[in-house]
Amino acid sequence: MKDENCIFCKIANKEIPVNFVFENEKIVAFNDADPQAPVHILVIPKEHYASLNETNDEVLLSELLLVVKEITKKLDIKEYRTVINTGKEAGQSVFHLHVHILAKRTMLWPPG
Ligand code: AMP
Repeated sequence: MKDENCIFCKIANKEIPVNFVFENEKIVAFNDADPQAPVHILVIPKEHYASLNETNDEVLLSELLLVVKEITKKLDIKEYRTVINTGKEAGQSVFHLHVHILAKRTMLWPPG
């Protein structure tokens, strides 16, 4: 399913041209437009789920993390942070499930 108004659906469907750092039949990954670290990649399902709360697809959810590992391995990144913001209060601004990969700087904890 696709949401006509969703920017990440448009990216996944190639209606907005973006260089993918990864693509398979279910998942794409691309650089964040407003990077918060020297490496900041977003991994998204092609299918529209507004947030992590909207799917229990075990295969897809595990594949998203396996893709994170595949990308970081390919980039030879061994230390990185993964983030899934779920809901406005948690900082989610694009309501299409995505996993952030942030790397190549020292991360702070707790996050803001
Ligand atoms: P979140 O705040 O967790 O929902 O993350 C949304 C992320 O999407 C932010 O880091 C934005 O910088 C990023 N973003 C928004 N629009 C685009 C776009 N057109 N291309 C790439 N990244 C985007």
